Amino acid sequence: MEIPHNISLTPEIEGLVASGSPVAIGVSGGKDSQAAALATFSYLDRAQHSGPRILIHADLGSVEWSDSLRICKELATHFGRDLVVVRRKAGGLMERWKSRWLSSKTRYESLSTVTLVPCWSTPAMRFCTSEQKTHVIMADLKRRFKGQKIINVTGVRREESAARSRMPPTSTDTAGQIITWRPIIDHTVDEVFGAIHDAGLLPHPAYREFGMSRVSCRFCIMSNLADLQAAALQPESQGLLQEMVDLEIESSFAFQGSRWLGDIAPEKLSSSTRHRLKQAQERAIKRKSVEATLTKAMLFTKGWPERMLTDDEAALLCNARNQISKMYGFASDHLTVSGIQHRYAELLAEKSEKNPKQMEFW
Ligand code: SF4
Repeated sequence: MEIPHNISLTPEIEGLVASGSPVAIGVSGGKDSQAAALATFSYLDRAQHSGPRILIHADLGSVEWSDSLRICKELATHFGRDLVVVRRKAGGLMERWKSRWLSSKTRYESLSTVTLVPCWSTPAMRFCTSEQKTHVIMADLKRRFKGQKIINVTGVRREESAARSRMPPTSTDTAGQIITWRPIIDHTVDEVFGAIHDAGLLPHPAYREFGMSRVSCRFCIMSNLADLQAAALQPESQGLLQEMVDLEIESSFAFQGSRWLGDIAPEKLSSSTRHRLKQAQERAIKRKSVEATLTKAMLFTKGWPERMLTDDEAALLCNARNQISKMYGFASDHLTVSGIQHRYAELLAEKSEKNPKQMEFW
């Protein structure tokens, strides 16, 4: 059998394909998942794969480009297959970022955390991808193909980043049931667009019409400045832009660490929003300077205090909690030295009763 040009194969994948294992191709609407689907179907046809094949799309809600679902459906139609669309039951990514802020605020008010936790996901803490995509897709596949070994295809390419350049063509989940296969891991961007063109398909309009270098969430935590600017200029992004800037204002946490989404295209915001954003940025500076007065020993580890505070430490925390609560308008408890000492004692007693490892820590 002639192997399609440049496809990354391993003996394990060849064996699973030969035995008819189910193949699920994750599609996002982006070019890489289109190219991965094309390369996979071409290989499976030549290998006379007899098992089930599906295209699966995790819909993250309002953060998605309007065209992404359409592109995924067109791709499925191209192969004569249905598209499986999965969503997190508790809501899309914007809802998750908002609920995380609400949780951070509530935990701060009750002194279940010493410092406020940012609402946004970060490159080091990508709960957006793990909760909204990986977990939802894997759960569906395990239900759909119970007890079978499943090939899970992704469009990851080594060219994309230093971390991806080190990835192997396959990896297996801890239960040994799902084998993630990266068939186009060594493809170049030209090969990707070339494969889409050769198949008579069109890439997502965000590349050529909107000027995006990557198609992901409209505003991704890892987007570069040019992509954020291009996304912010699109008419379809305006509602989401306003909602995300409102969350930056409410939380005083910038979307990308030190880069505020509200600064990307200020001309798209009302003067009142720009004014509130400036106040939020000033609040962020003050919050950081207040938090800098706290020592590491005063912070919680995995949600729990390490020890009781000295009276001096409790006084420092008391001062910080009063300032931050006033700044944000929080209805915080434990705003006195004795109240803080009482809360630490309560938490330490609770900690010793429970095994923290068994507690869900968000
Ligand atoms: S595209 Fe970006 S923001 Fe969206 S889920 Fe992936 S990493 Fe998170």
